[in-house]
Amino acid sequence: MTAPKSAVTPMMAQYLDIKRDHPDALLFYRMGDFYELFFEDAQAAAAALDIALTKRGKHLGEDIPMCGVPFHAADGYLQTLIRKGFRVAVCEQQENPAEARKRGSKAVVKRAVERVVTPGTLTEDSLLQARHSNFLAAFARVRDDAALAWLDISTGDFSVTPCTPLRLGPDLARIRPAELLLADPVASEIAAIVSDIGVPVTEVLLASFDSSQAGKRLASVLGEIKDHPTDTFGRAELSAMGALLDYLDQTQKGQMPLLRVPRRIDPVTTVQIDPATRRNLELTHALSGGRAGSLLSVVDRTVTPAGARLLEHRLTGPIRDLEEIRRRHDAIDFFLADPALTETVRAALRRSPDMDRALQRLSLGRGGPRDLVAIRNGLRLASDLSGLFQAELLDLLSQVRTDLTVETSLKELLDTSLKEETPLLVRDGDFVAPGYHAPLDELRQLRDQSRSVVAGMQGTYQTDTGVGALKVKHNNVLGYFIETPATHAERMLSAPLSETFIHRQTTANAVRFTTLELSELETRILNAGGEALEQERVIFEHLRQKVIGRAADIWACARAIAELDLATALTDLAATEGWVRPKIDDSRTLDVIGGRHPVVERSLKQQGGTRFVANDCRLGDQGGSIWLLTGPNMAGKSTFLRQNAIIALLAQMGAFVPARSAHIGLVSQFFSRVGAADDLARGRSTFMVEMVETAAILNQADDRALVILDEIGRGTATYDGLSIAWATLEHLNAVNRCRALFATHYHELTQHAARLDGVENATVAVKDWKDEVIFLHEVRKGAADRSYGVQVAKLAGLPQSVVDRARDVLDSLEQAEREGGKIKAVIDDLPLFSAAAQEPKPTKVAETRILDRLADVNPDAVTARQALDLLYELKKLAGSDD
Ligand code: ATP
Repeated sequence: MTAPKSAVTPMMAQYLDIKRDHPDALLFYRMGDFYELFFEDAQAAAAALDIALTKRGKHLGEDIPMCGVPFHAADGYLQTLIRKGFRVAVCEQQENPAEARKRGSKAVVKRAVERVVTPGTLTEDSLLQARHSNFLAAFARVRDDAALAWLDISTGDFSVTPCTPLRLGPDLARIRPAELLLADPVASEIAAIVSDIGVPVTEVLLASFDSSQAGKRLASVLGEIKDHPTDTFGRAELSAMGALLDYLDQTQKGQMPLLRVPRRIDPVTTVQIDPATRRNLELTHALSGGRAGSLLSVVDRTVTPAGARLLEHRLTGPIRDLEEIRRRHDAIDFFLADPALTETVRAALRRSPDMDRALQRLSLGRGGPRDLVAIRNGLRLASDLSGLFQAELLDLLSQVRTDLTVETSLKELLDTSLKEETPLLVRDGDFVAPGYHAPLDELRQLRDQSRSVVAGMQGTYQTDTGVGALKVKHNNVLGYFIETPATHAERMLSAPLSETFIHRQTTANAVRFTTLELSELETRILNAGGEALEQERVIFEHLRQKVIGRAADIWACARAIAELDLATALTDLAATEGWVRPKIDDSRTLDVIGGRHPVVERSLKQQGGTRFVANDCRLGDQGGSIWLLTGPNMAGKSTFLRQNAIIALLAQMGAFVPARSAHIGLVSQFFSRVGAADDLARGRSTFMVEMVETAAILNQADDRALVILDEIGRGTATYDGLSIAWATLEHLNAVNRCRALFATHYHELTQHAARLDGVENATVAVKDWKDEVIFLHEVRKGAADRSYGVQVAKLAGLPQSVVDRARDVLDSLEQAEREGGKIKAVIDDLPLFSAAAQEPKPTKVAETRILDRLADVNPDAVTARQALDLLYELKKLAGSDD
């Protein structure tokens, strides 16, 4: 690929030149109606897209591998390539072949890369998920300061936050950027954090992060927006934002998208949730990986894409600002009080277009008529919505109303200029409304109704000449002409008519003329189609500029619509699921009465079986801040732990909560250690993962944190595990002083807990029925008396012989412990297990059933035949193993 240019064709030389500037991207090289790929790019793309690899010409004596995709279907191919981790440089023709030929017969059509498509810089609906944001992020460090900045070019959202390396994991897990920009040496230092969360990294040059350039870049991009506080940002924040802008400049080839004034997020007002906790609480993804079964999937009742994005943003980023949380709760209360209004608003919102994304496509020159229509429909919707409710007393809703009240001139312009339905592309034309632009109407009339225009002209000429038989005709030789019978020749050929009617031809019966007006008409008819299209292009550009000029208003409208969607969606959720407004304050209370786990509740409902059992949880100011929760396996401990964290989180995102009542003192951090998972890819065993997560909690949790620990120390030997659990409990209570729910199977801990101030025992109740365990799922004060592990194992279908053997071993061990005996002696005394020797003996359950059956029988009242049947029945019961 580094051949001297003389050895290659001019076109290949151009290709190689362009490719040299984009070594890390596949080059989509436009040739007519196709994007062609060559050399290694072709091989990689053909494999990734599963399309045919062909060849075209030779380079240095070798065949040039080639593959191509039709340009009108390019989005689908781009989507696949981006998903598979490629970047794509899209190289377009800058002139048509006829223009190129003017420079000489061998001249190559000028081409240039117009855009590099990367995962973090997508704008097309077909490449994006409507209900999820698509962030490009950059992490910068300037001396001791560090910051994370992120933006979504598909909506213009732009945020920045000071970010210590300790917060980087939680922040990245919250934002889940599609692409993270890093420069060495930072890239190497934080590689572990980044790979833990699985964020795709693009390494850029350190110069991109130059904070002294960043201020200027920011000012030039945001120049349009007055009073932007660029000087209030720290060096690291500027550096991270600057890197984003530099990258946009490179990938969008100077075509800057519209960006909102960056929102500076103060770490003090956000709740910290580390990546493991997010995973464990299944906020946006279930542990199985998909979105189904996540909290988000259960709480999402939004009806607009922007509303859905806002919900995801709020759910993943609960806050600590009491006033703001109350404002959000007030809005739900407002709508709850008026169900009819809520339904009207939601019905209107269902028509909402995605204004944010339409606006961005327009700003980047990738928009079409339908994007203008989206803006128009959004503005119409805004004006409908703003008339629907009055809520002056409520901060959030009065802001929404203000934002919805857009000055009408743009709406009127789009109303009058655009058709109701339009084609997708500008080049298809026919999107400008009739009556908006007279010259365009005339062109279209010419194009579409040439016959009636000609007929009109014929009528005028008949009147002007007094020749009723005058006709305007058309043939391939003369084009349009005027014909009169030969009898009128003399009149037509003399003044004054001869001044207008120019003689063209005389035949045996007729004389033919033209007029200046007719030849102009002819040219205009011929060109009308093309000209109409060109006019529409000009009008499109005019409207595009008008829309861009009102970006701030459009954003405000879009934000208001999203806010309204979210408030009414959360209202709908609260109303239909019986959720309540939580009381939120500065206390250290977590007092939940009748709390439920929304995801488990939903799945039980879907299975049509058991009802979810609501439970109370009272931590903090009044009682102990730590509950030590014991109870059998499968009793519902994990569910209880998670539901309380979820309730606090929902409250702090501004939603109502699944409980009869809830009083939540602001939580600063959520931590969880739930379940066991190997992380073999990174060389961590189950136990190691468990300890790493526990260490993070003990080192970081402050006195406002809410910690849920589901089993500590289970992945190692019993006494090691118990000791670690013991010490962890003490540390949480004495040093972290946080609120915590700690589930454990170490019953020894419950006695210890009773002695610790601030720690209380709670248990999930079960009922013992004829040696079967029945789960009540009720959380009560006190400690569990035993584990029921063997019963649960039996429920799970362990072979009866193994269950029996386990029960024997357990009996012996428990007896030894009661009698102060040595475990080792017990083990030595236990007869050896022999699968073959195990006669299937009647289980206790079978015995019970046999006895129950016999109790029902009156021997004096049965016939011989019934007695025989009974005998068979009893024999069958004796053989049953459950
Ligand atoms: P293990 O100790 O084995 O991890 P666990 O005590 O943590 O078990 P969970 O996983 O919380 O138990 O719950 C087991 C199942 O019990 C859940 O999948 C759910 O179907 C049901 N369950 C849990 N809590 C409730 C409840 N409050 N009401 C009704 N069903 C519940």
